[in-house]
Amino acid sequence: MDLGIRGRGGIVTAASKGLGRGCAEALAEAGVDLTLNARGAEALEETAAAIREKYGVAVTTVAGDITTEAVRAEVMAACPAPDILVTNAGGPPPGLWSDWSRDDFVKALDANMLTPIALMQAALPGMIERGWGRVVNITSQSVKSPIAALGLSNSARAGLTGFVAGTSRQVASKGVVINNLLPGIHDTDRATSLDGGVMKAEGISREEARARRAATIPAGRYGRPEEFGAVCAFLCSRHSGFMIGQNVLLDGGAFNSTL
Ligand code: NAP
Repeated sequence: MDLGIRGRGGIVTAASKGLGRGCAEALAEAGVDLTLNARGAEALEETAAAIREKYGVAVTTVAGDITTEAVRAEVMAACPAPDILVTNAGGPPPGLWSDWSRDDFVKALDANMLTPIALMQAALPGMIERGWGRVVNITSQSVKSPIAALGLSNSARAGLTGFVAGTSRQVASKGVVINNLLPGIHDTDRATSLDGGVMKAEGISREEARARRAATIPAGRYGRPEEFGAVCAFLCSRHSGFMIGQNVLLDGGAFNSTL
């Protein structure tokens, strides 16, 4: 299928590894010129070089913490008129409800709610003016099905989901489409680190921890960043114009429901 976005310009934040990189690669394969961000400059440059080499698109990089206003401004300066925006940032650490302080909540809200909102506020006016735009926010399965140890994530992403539910409907008539992509367990550094948490808590090996987590997924395995990226690219394509404010769950069937 031709996604119809060749030559468009897109921003993907937190994109040097994992799901963000998966989205960047799929957009590059569809011919989108990219502005990519992550904190670590080395991995970011390696990813950018690999994408330029493989897909022949232009890739600009902005190294820095996307939860800061200064880095968000740099990203927007590098791509002042994005057609496509994929928001992503690292997830908060696991823990226990009784341990989280106000500062922990503020950090999580900053990364997983206020940062994507600020990026949308920066990108949407231009998209509306030009009459075309696509936004995908990478959130989490925890929006639909809470993961108790990730209470900081559950809270922040629920807030973002509420914002998108209303805003996506306000901009839909202007050709601007906003949706959220909800990853279940995918094979990335983040998943490896959460495997480590289970390993410690249960006193089992890494392999056993991974096998136990995989057994909770009807597909029987972790998702792959490239599968995730392909769905993201579809949501950014010309075909998604009637898909407004949806929360698309990619979890191998882990969320057990009929509807
Ligand atoms: P990952 O493999 O750890 O990759 C995270 C990427 O984001 C890296 O490129 C990292 O590079 C960058 N990054 C992290 N914090 C950043 C920041 N403040 N500013 C700029 N870049 C930043 O993580 P992932 O598995 O792809 O997860 C992506 C998102 O999906 C996270 O919010 C995670 O909680 C969520 N999620 C993941 C899963 C899963 O199973 N993988 C499931 C549910 C939800 P630097 O460290 O160099 O900045």
